[in-house]
Amino acid sequence: MSEKPYNPRPWSYSREKCFLECERRYWLGYVQGVEFAPSAAMRRGSEKHAMFEALVQGKEVEGMDADDMAAWNRVEPLVRDEQVETEKELAVDAFRMPVDYDSPDAFLRGKLDVISGGLIIDWKMGQSMMYDQRQADIYAILLSAKGDVCWPLTVSFVFPYIKPECSGTDFVSFGPYCYDPKGMRDIWDLMQSELMALETEIGKKNPADKEDWAPNPAGCSGCGVWASCDFCNGDHITKILEAV
Ligand code: SF4
Repeated sequence: MSEKPYNPRPWSYSREKCFLECERRYWLGYVQGVEFAPSAAMRRGSEKHAMFEALVQGKEVEGMDADDMAAWNRVEPLVRDEQVETEKELAVDAFRMPVDYDSPDAFLRGKLDVISGGLIIDWKMGQSMMYDQRQADIYAILLSAKGDVCWPLTVSFVFPYIKPECSGTDFVSFGPYCYDPKGMRDIWDLMQSELMALETEIGKKNPADKEDWAPNPAGCSGCGVWASCDFCNGDHITKILEAV
């Protein structure tokens, strides 16, 4: 358990998603400071992200198997850019001004897998084609705040490990979501008001009373704090079945 005082900020895509999916998970992870235990899929995703980060930077990577090679060959043309940046940590304050990623003033932050000119790539290393435009909006907000940006900004979710079924494409991707400077103000205003509304909602809850934080058994599968969740109490399958 963490000794740090609880603070709802900085927001991130994963933090917002966590609260919206299961308040009890949010309470355990962000309020009580229980460490999120990565699932096997998350561990694999982290390994592949690290591998691709090194590959994009032109480094030699040992231990790549045939799937890794095929995945890299599919997407490598996307990142042939000498100026390409990887794993870029960005944050903005409540006025959308850029601040350090770990700044106490950070209101919203994120780690961008690849930035190549105005293109942001988010690698999705799994097999399930899940992505969320909210994540793209957050990345566009973070990058656009920097000022020296190539417009229009585009965000693509790229799945290197999924072989395309149809001919004509080398890799599976979703997007690009496109952003121009004029539209960023509206996206920010809405996002900021939504996140502040969540802060108000969270502020009404008692950090010391878990009953204030609703569990959602629909999200138990793969939950990183499941072992500490006494709602499920080691019986999450039963709870899931009861919930459907
Ligand atoms: S195990 Fe289920 S109910 Fe408990 S925190 Fe995780 S998602 Fe929520």
